[in-house]
Amino acid sequence: MYQYKRSSELFDEANKYIPGGVNSPVRAFKSVGGTPVFIEKAKGSILTDADGNEYIDYISSWGPMILGHAYPKVIEAIKEKVEDSTSFGAPTELEIDIAKLIVEMVPNIDKVRMVNSGTEACMSAIRVARGYTGRNKFIKFEGCYHGHADSFLIKAGSGASTFGVPNSPGVTPGTANDTLTARYNDIDNVKQLVAENKDEIAAIIIEPIAGNMGCVLPKKGFMEELRTLCDQEGILLIFDEVMNGFRLARGGAQEYLGIKADLVTFGKVIGGGMPVGAYAGPDEIMKVVSPLGPVYQAGTLSGNPIAMIAGYTLLKDLNENPQYFTELEEKTEYLHKGLDKVLAESGFDYKINRCGSMISVFFTDVDVLDFDTAATANNEKFPQFFHEMLKRGIYLPPSSFESYFLSNSLTYEMLDKTIQAAKESLEAMK
Ligand SMILES: *Cc1c(COP(=O)(O)O)cnc(C)c1O
Repeated sequence: MYQYKRSSELFDEANKYIPGGVNSPVRAFKSVGGTPVFIEKAKGSILTDADGNEYIDYISSWGPMILGHAYPKVIEAIKEKVEDSTSFGAPTELEIDIAKLIVEMVPNIDKVRMVNSGTEACMSAIRVARGYTGRNKFIKFEGCYHGHADSFLIKAGSGASTFGVPNSPGVTPGTANDTLTARYNDIDNVKQLVAENKDEIAAIIIEPIAGNMGCVLPKKGFMEELRTLCDQEGILLIFDEVMNGFRLARGGAQEYLGIKADLVTFGKVIGGGMPVGAYAGPDEIMKVVSPLGPVYQAGTLSGNPIAMIAGYTLLKDLNENPQYFTELEEKTEYLHKGLDKVLAESGFDYKINRCGSMISVFFTDVDVLDFDTAATANNEKFPQFFHEMLKRGIYLPPSSFESYFLSNSLTYEMLDKTIQAAKESLEAMK
């Protein structure tokens, strides 16, 4: 039986000094209840917590650990690099290496600017789009997350086509006014917003495969229609590939879906577990970025050598081994089939969405296509399942609005163990 004594002591102590005891909210287990598990170390797909419990990891640090924790090549590269100092605030050759590699891997981009997080990448991409088009507003989709910059923390009211209402205190109505929110997979809704705000919309930003309302896939034709609409209206299409990039394929969602974006943002995998983000696009657009152009964007630690070597080493390995993506997809499909079987046997209502190595189980009887349908699965079943799985050594994302991210260090034996744990968990939930 798992004990959480040390984790629970640490959480009490953490709460004295850190808001809610955590440095990012979802870690606090608020939506599933119970004590968050404090992690001590990890290797491959196995996490070890502060009480010595071991878990099979389905979060992969929310994506970066796509080839497993403490991936030897990455660790070695960091160790070697760190001897040369941890930051210079001046250009390095390594920044060219990673930029070149990214431009080689990702379609439709000429230039890439490194930042320190996905938030920064998305926030900067919106600024670039505004600077480039001379327009102020942008459209995002309900349920898509683009980081915690003010202009993204907007959720539509019940009428998705009305002006944004700030959903975090601290975001001003002025900021909210420039963010329009549409329903994912609803092209008519997007068209209506565009028509109502003719020549005012700089960009449409989207998670091509959404992962922040659980895994939700674009309907056939939806992305194509968005692309066409953007072309017709002079709007930039921004793919937020912070989750999708270097995970769905070498070239990310653009390659996976065969759709061209005007700007692309990255995070997560791109840093190999270090704090890194990036935004990229063709010369025509990226030429507005300072110091080439007038759109200011900077970072004291951007292009940090330790972060760059971690990212570079991981991306290079992914680039040289395209079979990793196939292997990941096969493992995820295997898990999908196994979970499908035990869920069907359980008699509970459920839907499974999967794309590449992203997968979500929704305890609902409706197809999950957007935020509203995803929200139907935010019920009491999810926390029960989460805790039953945790007890059996399976570490799932602690929210029904998060996708699982598989790592290629997962073995078929681990996948079988996970499916067996799911079977037992579902039994226990009855
Ligand atoms: C995680 C995430 C972000 C924010 O990245 P941070 O590094 O947490 O700032 C932005 N967009 C998407 C799609 C994400 O999944």
